[in-house]
Amino acid sequence: MTDRHMTSAELRARGHQMIDWVADYLDGVEELSVLSQVEPGWVTAQLPSNPPDKGESFDAVIADLDRIVLPGLTHWQSPRFFAYFPANTSGPSILGELAAAGLGVQGMLWATSPACTELETVVVDWVAQLLDLPERFRMGGPGGGVIQDSASSSALVALLAARDRARARGAALDDLVVYVSSQTHSSLVKGARIAAIPNLRTVEVDGSFAMWPGALAKAMDDDVAAGRVPAMVCGTVGTTASHAIDPLAAIGDLCHRHQAWFHVDAAHLGIAGMCREMAWVNHGLEHADSYNTNAHKWLFTNFDCSLMWVADRAPVLESLSILPDYLRNQATESGAVIDYRDWQVPLGRRFRALKLWMVMRHYGADGLRHHLREHLALAADLASRFEADPRFELAAPVPATLLCVRLAAGDEASRELLDAINQTGRAYLSHAVLDDRHVIRVSIGSTLTTRRHVDDLWSLFDKLA
Ligand code: PLP
Repeated sequence: MTDRHMTSAELRARGHQMIDWVADYLDGVEELSVLSQVEPGWVTAQLPSNPPDKGESFDAVIADLDRIVLPGLTHWQSPRFFAYFPANTSGPSILGELAAAGLGVQGMLWATSPACTELETVVVDWVAQLLDLPERFRMGGPGGGVIQDSASSSALVALLAARDRARARGAALDDLVVYVSSQTHSSLVKGARIAAIPNLRTVEVDGSFAMWPGALAKAMDDDVAAGRVPAMVCGTVGTTASHAIDPLAAIGDLCHRHQAWFHVDAAHLGIAGMCREMAWVNHGLEHADSYNTNAHKWLFTNFDCSLMWVADRAPVLESLSILPDYLRNQATESGAVIDYRDWQVPLGRRFRALKLWMVMRHYGADGLRHHLREHLALAADLASRFEADPRFELAAPVPATLLCVRLAAGDEASRELLDAINQTGRAYLSHAVLDDRHVIRVSIGSTLTTRRHVDDLWSLFDKLA
C-alpha cells in the first residue's frame, strides 16, 4: 500500500477546486428549491452500505456532493430562506472555518494553544462592547465571555452553575425551582432535565407574549412559602415563536431579591443591540448572571458560534472544573490563564474564535450594523405591506426581523397558505402557535437576502392567499 496522505500540492489544487465549488454554490443557491424535495431514505439509498476499501478520487467525491448531497439539502444560505431563525454564514466566516480546520487545534487548555484561548477572550469582549453589555460581563474582573457550541449549551452551563450555587448555600436539590415562560425555548426545559432540577414553573405571558413579572413574583413567593428555593429564571430577548422580549429589569429585580440566577437567552435578537436604535433590546441586564447570543444566527458567522457571558465565572468553574493529572500544567497552576474547558460540558473545543475574528475584521462594526439595518428595514417594509392588506393579520408585535402572520380567514387557510408557499420552492417559511392559533413565521436575516427576494416573497403571499 502506498502513502495515501494528500500531498500539499494536491491539497492546494483540491482546495482551490473546493472553494470554487462553494463560491459557485452560493452564486447559484437562490435558484435551487429552498426546501429539499427528497423523500425519506432517498439519500441513504444513493450511498453504498459498506465503507470504501480503497481510497477514491476526489473528483468522484465532488461529483457525489452534487449528485447526492445537494438534492438532500434545505438551503439555509438561500436568500429565500425565511424559516426558523437564520443560520447565516459569510465569506470571512467560511475562510476562518477553513483556517481552523487547517490548523486542527484542540483548545481545551490555554497551554494546548494560547492563541485559541486568548483570541476567543478578545473577540468575545469585542462583541460585549458592541452590544454595550454591562462591565461585569467583560474580562478583567470576575466575569467574562466564552464561545459555546449552542444556546442550548449556554443554558445548560447556566443551569448547572445556578443549581450548584443554590446547593452551596444549603438548598436541597429536590427544593430547587427553575422559572421559564410558556414562550421560553425548549432547551431550558431540556437543560433543567439534564441538570436534574425537579421543579420547573411555566410563568404566564402578557398580550405581547412577554413574561408577566406579576405572575413570576407570585410563583416565586409561593415556592418560598412552601420551603422551595428559586434557583434560576430564564428571561428571553426575542422568543423563538414571536420575538417577544421579556421585561429584563423587573425579572432581574425579582432574581436579586430571591438570590436566584438570572439567565438571559438572547439567542437571535440580542445581536440587534449592536445598532444604537435597537440597543434597548438588551436593557435591564443589571442583575443578569449570564447572557447568551448566537453569532451563528445573525452575525454572519457559520454554526457553531454561541457567545455566552457570565457576571462571575467562579460558580461556573466550581460546577465544571475538573483537573485529571494528565491535564496538569504550569500555566494552569499559575492561575494566570483561562482554561475554557472549565466553562463548558465537553473537554475538547474547536477554534471557533478564528471565524468570528475574521468576520469582525472583514466587516468592521460599521459593516455589521449596515447589514443588520438592511434586514431590519426589509422586515419593517414587509410588515407594513401585511398591515395594509385586510387579508392578513400580524399576530404579534414586530420589534425586529420576525413577522408572525396569519390569514384573517383562519387557521386552516393559514396552514394551507404556508404549505402552498413552501411547495413552490421559491421560499421557505416555518410556523408557530400563538394563543392556540396557527401563524406563519417570516424570519428575515439570511446573508444573501435583498429587497428583490422579499418582494418575491410578498408576491407569493399576494398570489396564493
Ligand atoms: N433560544 C432561542 C430564543 C432560540 O430561538 C433558539 C433556537 O432557535 C435557541 C435558544 C437554541 O439555539 P441553539 O440551536 O444554538 O441551541
